[in-house]
Amino acid sequence: MYDVAIVGCGIIGAAAAYELSRYRLRTVVLEKRNDVCDATTKANSAIIHAGYDPEPGTLMAKLNVRGAELAQELCARLDVPYRRVGSLVLAFREEERPTLEALYRRGVRNGVKALSLLDASEAHAMEPGIAPDVAGALYAPGAAIVNPWEYGIALAETAVKNGTELRRSSEVLSIGRIDGGWRILTNRGSVDAGFVINAAGVSSDKVHNMVAAPDFTIRPIRGEYYLLDKSEGTRVSHVIFQCPTENGKGVLVSPTVHGNLIAGPNAQAVEDGGDVSNTAQGMEFVRRAALRSVPSISFRDNIRNFAGLRAACERDDFVIRAAAPGFLDLAGIKSPGLTAAPAVAEYALELLRGEGLKTEKKADWDGTRKKIRFRDLSAEEKNRLIRKNPAYGRVICRCETITEGEILDALHSPIPPRSIDGVKRRAGSGMGRCQGGFCGPRVLAILAREYHMAPEEIPQDNDGSWILSGETKRGGSADA
Ligand SMILES: Cc1cc2nc3c(=O)[nH]c(=O)nc-3n(C[C@H](O)[C@H](O)[C@H](O)COP(=O)(O)OP(=O)(O)OC[C@H]3O[C@@H](n4cnc5c(N)ncnc54)[C@H](O)[C@@H]3O)c2cc1C
Repeated sequence: MYDVAIVGCGIIGAAAAYELSRYRLRTVVLEKRNDVCDATTKANSAIIHAGYDPEPGTLMAKLNVRGAELAQELCARLDVPYRRVGSLVLAFREEERPTLEALYRRGVRNGVKALSLLDASEAHAMEPGIAPDVAGALYAPGAAIVNPWEYGIALAETAVKNGTELRRSSEVLSIGRIDGGWRILTNRGSVDAGFVINAAGVSSDKVHNMVAAPDFTIRPIRGEYYLLDKSEGTRVSHVIFQCPTENGKGVLVSPTVHGNLIAGPNAQAVEDGGDVSNTAQGMEFVRRAALRSVPSISFRDNIRNFAGLRAACERDDFVIRAAAPGFLDLAGIKSPGLTAAPAVAEYALELLRGEGLKTEKKADWDGTRKKIRFRDLSAEEKNRLIRKNPAYGRVICRCETITEGEILDALHSPIPPRSIDGVKRRAGSGMGRCQGGFCGPRVLAILAREYHMAPEEIPQDNDGSWILSGETKRGGSADA
């Protein structure tokens, strides 16, 4: 019998697991995909929002501001790329100024620090790349950019390092009441736990409905993006928003922690809950809207398009509460869920205690993580490392200068990747201009060699995304 079972391992499940790993508890995380943080958590704007956007008094407002406060120190502790670049919300016409003023007042009520309203000349002085007709801006120095999937993976890895059990490729199919807790049936057997946390993202309504009467429905809203080459990475130095509309925060343009430029998202309701395809219409909308803010962006330098799904529901707030005794929903976590995640986890623990969970701190908890990033080292440090382990001297991803040593580190991490994209999310190989065209086959060969698997068994990403189907020619003289 586990003390707590967490359904879903995006950033919300991972943050909850990290928080619980501080205590002497038996925790299991059940994730249906073959990797953690491989759904919405890997496909979003990657912004730590300052907190002026949510309606005061909502959970979203409270947990956004608290999550943003926690993020900087947490990312430092977990060695996750984080940069506090600040954000500007642009007003293009005088008529949009009242919106900026309303956001400012909301931010002050939410407890966001150091917000200020800029006139046109101040906004242009701060960010020369924005459109000439910008009439003013709301400046939030506390906004930051982060590597979202690495943030989530780091939380999950650290939880696992501290004793949390993770079961991947384990889809929760049903949940039933048993004496003292819950029996969770997965495609790989059942798990009993005293308490359950539902962190199933866009499926959180389905998981809720396994134990309680339906009372919210997730209607996913897709957001599509351009990721532009590093040659575009310095177009702007802040996160550039437009005034929000009823469809959300609108299209932003932002530098990324990897040195690229990101533009997006649009907001498109999807019929098929899992559809993350890009559409010509959506991309054109994003392109035009981004050029409205920053007219000089070169969209010819696009290296990747992707889309993520917002877990939108009929309530304009996160759905966080006990749905049944000992069963907690962390549901409908749309934006700013990435920002709020550590605060959601703190709040979830408080609610679980209210449900009767007993917590006793571990004496030996280690909430830190450290990674080697070869290309950031000095020449001396690189040489020292290569002398110790020659694998750091073999560059596998040329665009991003990722070495075999870093890929092997990922393969020996607490949550070893099972796919080429899993390696990408940990080591950074395939993140560059050629998007894995060069390193993909080499990463596949390393995975096959290290895991003693046939190359055909290595997927691109989730189970079933096979790359090779068999040999076309056999090597060696006997068959030549
Ligand atoms: C377009 C877009 C832009 C965004 N931008 C930002 C931003 O800039 N800043 C910000 O703060 N937030 C942003 N967000 C919101 C943020 O990305 C999400 O709130 C956050 O990633 C949600 O995390 P999650 O763990 O709830 O969901 P997910 O990451 O989707 O994780 C849920 C997990 O549950 C698993 N699962 C589902 N069903 C089952 C089952 N039956 N059994 C087992 N496992 C299951 C899934 O496989 C998945 O791994 C954005 C979201 C979108 C879509």
